[in-house]
Amino acid sequence: MSVKITMIGTGYVGLVTGACFAEIGHQVICVDKDIAKIEKLHQGIMPIYEPGLDELVMRNVKNGRLKFSTDVEASAKGRDAIFLCVGTPPHPETGAADLKYVYAAAVEVARGLDGFAVIVTKSTVPVGTNRQIFEIASKYAKSKDYVAVASNPEFLREGAAITDFLEPDRVVVGAENQSAAKLMRAIYEPIVSEDVPFVETAIESAEVIKYAANGFLAVKLSFINEVSDLCEAVGANVSDVARGIGLDKRIGSPFLHVGPGWGGSCFPKDSMALHRTAKDYGVTMRLIESAIVANDERKLSMADRIKKHCDDSLQGKRIAVLGLTFKGQTDDMRESPSLVIIPQLQREGATICAFDPSHPEGVDGMLPGVTVCKTPDELCVNADALVVMTEWREFRSYDYQSFAKSMNKKIAIDLRNLLDEKTMITAGFESYHRLGE
Ligand code: NAD
Repeated sequence: MSVKITMIGTGYVGLVTGACFAEIGHQVICVDKDIAKIEKLHQGIMPIYEPGLDELVMRNVKNGRLKFSTDVEASAKGRDAIFLCVGTPPHPETGAADLKYVYAAAVEVARGLDGFAVIVTKSTVPVGTNRQIFEIASKYAKSKDYVAVASNPEFLREGAAITDFLEPDRVVVGAENQSAAKLMRAIYEPIVSEDVPFVETAIESAEVIKYAANGFLAVKLSFINEVSDLCEAVGANVSDVARGIGLDKRIGSPFLHVGPGWGGSCFPKDSMALHRTAKDYGVTMRLIESAIVANDERKLSMADRIKKHCDDSLQGKRIAVLGLTFKGQTDDMRESPSLVIIPQLQREGATICAFDPSHPEGVDGMLPGVTVCKTPDELCVNADALVVMTEWREFRSYDYQSFAKSMNKKIAIDLRNLLDEKTMITAGFESYHRLGE
């Protein structure tokens, strides 16, 4: 069954999932308020970097199943399902999810409805939001009977977003209205299989699932980062320890990779929002609170570590940074560890040059004073240390011999344990430092 779907918000989630819905046979309109973004898409230019996205979008535009618009109200007419995929950033004072974009979109969508449609929330929203959306939409729609809601949290990861969406571990849907639940089953029918369970829950459970999942992963990452520090102190190796514990099926290997602290558009804001919700309901959640504190401290401790490897002084030193985004294979800079570590290095007197393969937009504003190189070749010239900040796969195949040759001091500090000691020493580095070893 082909379903008429509108995506409100054409960012990472709205664009990827909208294109994927078109790919599995639905008729999709992706809407965004950002005129420049939609204009770019009309010209075939992707507003974000995501592997495989251009081909997916172009193919579905060509076959007529994927369209773009800037008009929310008009795009809500005559549709079966309208997915809200707008941002839910943390409120600057409270850390709670700021729902102003979600509620504003719900009002506009409701105004446009000319018949029954399901308003589906894909944005990550705290408990109670879907019921609030139902109240708002019922108030602004021409008829209360036009409105039903469903919660459908999204679990895709940037950098692997298309596969994650088309081959998910599970699909979660929270709905009370039977027509809404039936429509959601029809939408996901091509994706759901024996290996991909369709998890139907109460609306509140679906809302909690998303935060609990991200909260759990954040705790897991903070845990392995702390284990890494212990490994260093006692002479153990964190990679061996991670493998040794990850092979236990009760624990699992993913998310046991040590790093400079977790970032991105989801973990920091979702763990803060989870903590906030618990507080609002009078529930103590010490683990998530500790994971947040440990992560903030971890990012700062990375600057100390770099300083230590540079003879305990960064004054007048030139530090070459490989990677700026919060992880590899994405151009997303949101809450990236680089945004904490680099300013701390600058405060200690270092000058920074950096290269990131995705050429993220707006680095000048986010990291003033950083010289951004267009190619990796110029990065290391006269540098006093090379720091691997992000785990881009392509960094493994760079020419470290020529990097080392052009450096003032041949020191490499790998905050992702991405490279290999033997290769780096053979390439001419005098010292190569990893985490947790
Ligand atoms: P984003 O900032 O990339 O995209 C949001 C888009 O919504 C923007 O383009 C913005 O212009 C648009 N927008 C805002 N208000 C609008 C309105 N009224 N009408 C039309 N467009 C509007 O955000 P994102 O990363 O796609 O995240 C969206 C939601 O999905 C968030 O709640 C996030 O937590 C959640 N999520 C994100 C990811 C991820 O990896 N990025 C994964 C899972 C869930």
